[in-house]
Amino acid sequence: MPGLDEKLHDIYDEVLRRNPGETEFHQAAHEVLTSLGPVVAKHPEYADAAVIRRLCEPERQIIFRVPWVDDAGTVRINRGFRVEFNSALGPYKGGLRFHPSVYLGIIKFLGFEQIFKNALTGLPIGGGKGGSDFDPKGHSDSEIMRFCQSFMTELYRHIGEYTDVPAGDIGVGGREIGYLFGQYKRITNRYESGVLTGKGLTWGGSQVRTEATGYGTVFFVDEILKTRRDSFDGKRVVVSGSGNVAIYAIEKVQQLGGNVIACSDSGGYIVDEKGIDVELLRDLKEVRRARIAEYAEARTDVARYVEGRSVWEVPCDIALPCATQNELGGSDAAALIRNSCAIVAEGANMPCTPEAVQLMADSGVIFAPGKAANAGGVATSALEMQQNASRDSWAFDHTEQRLADIMRGIHDRCLETADEYGRPGDYVAGANIAGFTQVADAMLALGVI
Ligand code: NAP
Repeated sequence: MPGLDEKLHDIYDEVLRRNPGETEFHQAAHEVLTSLGPVVAKHPEYADAAVIRRLCEPERQIIFRVPWVDDAGTVRINRGFRVEFNSALGPYKGGLRFHPSVYLGIIKFLGFEQIFKNALTGLPIGGGKGGSDFDPKGHSDSEIMRFCQSFMTELYRHIGEYTDVPAGDIGVGGREIGYLFGQYKRITNRYESGVLTGKGLTWGGSQVRTEATGYGTVFFVDEILKTRRDSFDGKRVVVSGSGNVAIYAIEKVQQLGGNVIACSDSGGYIVDEKGIDVELLRDLKEVRRARIAEYAEARTDVARYVEGRSVWEVPCDIALPCATQNELGGSDAAALIRNSCAIVAEGANMPCTPEAVQLMADSGVIFAPGKAANAGGVATSALEMQQNASRDSWAFDHTEQRLADIMRGIHDRCLETADEYGRPGDYVAGANIAGFTQVADAMLALGVI
């Protein structure tokens, strides 16, 4: 992998200086800047208009107090965030994350990635992200509802279908989107479906949105396999996480003939050599909100649970990290390489550390970065916005075909761009450059704003 081009050192130093302590944001900015050397050499106009410097500074950052009352009557305080990063291509678009690890640096890394991911979809959406350090785990439904209502009581004034359109992410699924939408509707007295995506199917949601990120990641890998005249047939696949992205990645791999033999949560992993039973997994995780260990208890004859260890020690042909940032480090990459894993595609955002990415590049492992491979979720959110705007609702098969076409388009664009800039087969360079140039051209056209 190339290092940082000399012309970009000052910009990166400025990112470090202006955003102290925000290590995940530094990592995400460095990753994109590393690909941009050939771009600034070819297009001096981007530097003249300070496009990269402007891209590294969010257009707006909102931080707010979220007070709520728990079931015992105690007042609790969390912190809410919305970072509206870039709106050159359309309204800010990006999920909300509820997790105790959330702070400004996490939201900025996610928002920054989102700009380029959204550009890659070819759809008219800018980049943003938000969330809270609230942990939904262990809270009752009514506590979750009161938290979401309080969160939206501040957020509503900053969002709108032409302004900023949040969706889900870690800790924010259909239940939370429902409570958030309900409060938005109540405060504004408007049934503005296009203000949030990931809605339920009976109240403005889109078919395939729930499945989209996981399915999209697998469609992307399928395109990689096709370029090698190969398929999922008979491949051993390991997926990390067991949340929204992981569950639907597993389902689609199995539909395409692959065998997913392991998945995880933050406590450990399960191996099921017969292939993960998705229905059981969905029931445990989506309905009962249980731990992955219970999967092994339900299938003692074929499955085993391994506590506190990395799922990447399970030998596989294809690895799909679908849990969280920096979950696949150098030693995990070394294990995958030792076990002859051929493809790693990021269903999560930035799950592979820079060290892991470097090791995989050196060993010839094909690596698909999240901003390309997991763009199916936001792309389908944009399709949800289209349906809301036209008061329409599309069939499952039609929407899934649109998703598959979009993923093929992103895949091909990454490869074509990598070729054009002298890095054939490099999906990281292709994704970063294709996403960047699309936003940068729009920023040039819109003037210094
Ligand atoms: P989710 O439904 O909340 O699931 C997250 C899963 O990851 C849970 O099973 C969680 O387990 C597990 N996890 C967390 N930390 C882990 C760790 N250190 N090791 C192993 N497992 C861990 O969230 P999600 O929506 O699937 O999102 C997963 C990733 O995909 C995130 O990076 C997100 O930003 C990205 N993404 C999501 C979407 C989307 O549409 N949802 C779109 C694009 C990208 P516990 O229950 O134990 O915490």
